[in-house]
Amino acid sequence: MTDEDLRKINKLALKPQTKESIFIFKIKACDNGLDDRNFEPFSINALKDLKKLYVGKTVIKDHARKADNQIARVFDSELIEDPTSKVAVASDETYTTLELKCYMIRTKSNEDLIAEIEAGIKREVSTGCKAKHAFCSICGTDNAKTYCPHFWGREYNTKDGKKTCYFTLDGAKEAYEVSLVAVPAQPRAGTTKSYKEVEDEDPTEKTEETTPTDNPPENDPEKEKALEAVANARLRVADAFSNAQIKLILGE
Ligand SMILES: [Zn+2]
Repeated sequence: MTDEDLRKINKLALKPQTKESIFIFKIKACDNGLDDRNFEPFSINALKDLKKLYVGKTVIKDHARKADNQIARVFDSELIEDPTSKVAVASDETYTTLELKCYMIRTKSNEDLIAEIEAGIKREVSTGCKAKHAFCSICGTDNAKTYCPHFWGREYNTKDGKKTCYFTLDGAKEAYEVSLVAVPAQPRAGTTKSYKEVEDEDPTEKTEETTPTDNPPENDPEKEKALEAVANARLRVADAFSNAQIKLILGE
């Protein structure tokens, strides 16, 4: 822990903390790789927004928003560029990862959790955010504002041949809390992206898309209704959380 780390922590703490009273760890929260497993890669603009939005956010357990479950807080964030990475990114971007530095207090009740984090047992975390834009890779439509007929993860015939659809999340409006979760880790950091408010509806009502098409929707009320239902189903999918990993920076 550097003096600078402690200074940043003490900006958030009400009572000045010492290096001895604090335990810190780092989370690799997300990156701009196009191979995002949810077909919703972040642009570099989104990472830059999230870098600011995450500072001060709490780290909780199991996505349960109770004061008892608050275990740590993000006190710093950093964008790490890796031009040598083999991960595919947008042509005008460099592979970049957003890392979050978190602190927690060394208390009797935190002892076990700190030991579990140090031992690499507790290391899966889940992060979430709301994006400003979600651009379709097939037609360029911003699905944060309106809907196009394409589904992420599906293949479409375009004039440049077959292309898999993904939505690039460009910019971020909000970052949610970071949560420790008990789920299998993903090979690389994953993230959650919700670009529209999802209303609480009956989740059993699912709508299947008809034949994929590159044609924009027509102004047929029936079609629009069907499209809206598809969009709702799609957004429900997009609201799922996924995982990142804690990286220990002890002893650095
Ligand atoms: Zn589209």
